[in-house]
Amino acid sequence: MARFVDRVVIHAAAGNGGNGCASVHREKFKPLGGPDGGNGGSGGNVILVVDSQVHTLLDFHFRPHASATSGKAGAGANRDGANGEDLILRVPDGTVVLTEAGEIVADLVGEGTQLIAAAGGRGGLGNASLASRARKAPGFALLGEPGETRDLVLELKSVADVGLLGFPSAGKSSLIAVLSAAKPKIADYPFTTLVPNLGVITAGETIFTMADVPGLIPGASQGKGLGLDFLRHIERTAVLAHVVDCATYEPGRDPIADIDALEKELSEYTPALGGNFEDRPRVVILNKVDIPDAQDLADIVRPEIEARGLPVFEVSTVSRQGLRELTFKLAEVVREYRAAKPKQESTRIVLRPTAVDDQGFTVIEDPSVEGGFIVKGERPERWIRQTDFSNDEAVGYLADRLNRLGVEEKLVKMGAVPGCQVTIGDLIFDWEPTTPAGIAMTMTGRGSDIRLERNDRIGAHERKALKKARRAPGEYGDDYGDSSEE
Ligand code: GDP
Ligand code: MG
Repeated sequence: MARFVDRVVIHAAAGNGGNGCASVHREKFKPLGGPDGGNGGSGGNVILVVDSQVHTLLDFHFRPHASATSGKAGAGANRDGANGEDLILRVPDGTVVLTEAGEIVADLVGEGTQLIAAAGGRGGLGNASLASRARKAPGFALLGEPGETRDLVLELKSVADVGLLGFPSAGKSSLIAVLSAAKPKIADYPFTTLVPNLGVITAGETIFTMADVPGLIPGASQGKGLGLDFLRHIERTAVLAHVVDCATYEPGRDPIADIDALEKELSEYTPALGGNFEDRPRVVILNKVDIPDAQDLADIVRPEIEARGLPVFEVSTVSRQGLRELTFKLAEVVREYRAAKPKQESTRIVLRPTAVDDQGFTVIEDPSVEGGFIVKGERPERWIRQTDFSNDEAVGYLADRLNRLGVEEKLVKMGAVPGCQVTIGDLIFDWEPTTPAGIAMTMTGRGSDIRLERNDRIGAHERKALKKARRAPGEYGDDYGDSSEE
């Protein structure tokens, strides 16, 4: 069955981790105490959660940007920074999450199902946490990590809650246009010429969708015109609404005859999905009553339609009369329909876009630099982000971590020679393998790296990376104890 697709792109930005604090305990008559810098708080996540009370992606059409708050920096006296707060985005059951390239990230089904759309950055450790037997009073702390940012596509395949039936020019399109708050993209549709109109309508707390059925004409149930396909569209709507043109007079046609003709088509159509239209609630919309003749006609036919037990609404999409009452009636019927639907089973799974190889790392030859290497891995790349390159001790600590992981050993095995270019994350440096702290030595010199003066000899990518790596000092200053997040 062709369905409507409500589609939005959201921009999710998780909070940054707060910086750790480097501080030394001070007391009168005790000039130097132990390290007491607290840890930075972690940044808040942006989390999608299935909520059965949400039925459309309308909110995201209006507010596509979603940011969680950042963690606070740690402080002296072992005070840890507060964590950022998660931002919860409520999505309808059945929302599919994709990358902009169209790759499916998650299929969110079942109340409470969650997806961390963007993970908050980890807070940096303060110097109290970094102290060890070998490093009794670290004069540095780790930087907080930036939170993830992701552009994600949300898609909801939905069936319209309200299906509009009516002859051509009855005013179906006009009605959707005046009632809807947003027009979701209609996809997945086999026809290019006649496309059903879909609108999202808000009535108080209730949000529902409405679609017209433009191909429904006498003979449709026999496959005449595009009728069958359009009928398939409304198989699972909560309510059918006849839109009747009260302003047009043609011999042999009157509002009641119009309704009867379309009802005949419905009754002759055998729905493919097992349901049928007989028990579907209906309302009748008498349109164009802004025209005096149309109002007269509406007055005449109203009793007969009401006698059939159908609610009647006199409206005009031009003067907008009767629209509010109609909207609230439709919302009421839709609510009843939803309440009667069997509840989806409740599961609570936490999905996360998979992290690539969390534990290890790989070294590959750099395709863009002769004799160069690229170190890839979640941890080494994270360590780079956590390092304040203006602080020699911090850089030394980074070098130790990399060596303990076996990065230097692996580089040697891969054939790295002194002075060759090694890239980790956004850091590029000349590799000096002589001592375990060799990497550190080259890194600390990076601020005055000769390649910066010789711009002609380094590529734009490299310059950018170097610039980025040198960003830290300016941003965070020298005194960690006082530096706060941004
Ligand atoms: P559809 O074929 O059922 O989608 O009908 P449209 O929405 O395209 O409307 C057909 C024509 O009727 C258009 O020229 C509209 O401007 C007109 N129309 C729609 N609603 C009203 C109304 O309430 N009053 C008047 N006077 N004209 C209307
Ligand atoms: Mg139309």
